Amino acid sequence: MSEMLTIDSLEAGYGEIQVLHGVDLSVEKGEIVALIGSNGAGKTTTLRAVSGIIPATAGTITYDGGDITDADTEDIVDRGLVQVPESRELFGDLSVRENLLLGAQRASAVDGRDAMLDRVYELFPRLEEREEQAAETMSGGEQQMLAIGRALMGDPDLLVLDEPTEGLAPKLVQDVFDAIREIHAEGMTVFLVEQNVKQTLSLADRGYVMENGRTTLSGTGEELLEADEVIEAYLGA
Ligand code: ATP
Repeated sequence: MSEMLTIDSLEAGYGEIQVLHGVDLSVEKGEIVALIGSNGAGKTTTLRAVSGIIPATAGTITYDGGDITDADTEDIVDRGLVQVPESRELFGDLSVRENLLLGAQRASAVDGRDAMLDRVYELFPRLEEREEQAAETMSGGEQQMLAIGRALMGDPDLLVLDEPTEGLAPKLVQDVFDAIREIHAEGMTVFLVEQNVKQTLSLADRGYVMENGRTTLSGTGEELLEADEVIEAYLGA
């Protein structure tokens, strides 16, 4: 396997407040890697730094053999690293279809737009049924699927998901995990932050636990499911 994303001793924060104090992790091509941790541990902040939304104050981020530590978001998306933010950031008054088409920004994505739209509709038939509906009138679960679909329209090599099941009913949580499993089975590399620790670690090849701005534990999904620290803190002893 070849390394796709490597985060080395990353530090970042907001103004004077330092949130990340040393994040170390890697994602290899073809893997699903999960980042878990308690509220406020710095998971979203890590993803924001990776996507160039906030600057790194120390450490390095390498993607596909290049240093992206100081790259801007547009450049990072162009290189194939596409993030679905926690807030989804859909255009509420635009239709489902229009939102999807707006995801095709990278040159390779523009060329393959129609084929990719078909693929997204295959993965999420509900989006095709509702392609003319305004995004803001879709349910929470449908909006999450739309946000994932829009990211796929960008023809990513690495799909980064920030809590894709947040706020969803159990049935929809299952649908989102099924979709991630299917996208991965087709060859997509996935890096995700999740609160549903048990399901996520069951799905992931490897995972990292984050506490107080640092990655403190890593292992295969299976190893982490059996780790005392994980059981005590996240799975309920
Ligand atoms: P959660 O699981 O609750 O989403 P998280 O691990 O993703 O948590 P972050 O969202 O990365 O945690 O937040 C880490 C810390 O950074 C928190 O203390 C949070 O209050 C702080 N923080 C997040 N965003 C900002 C911001 N825009 N300005 C200042 N502080 C922020």
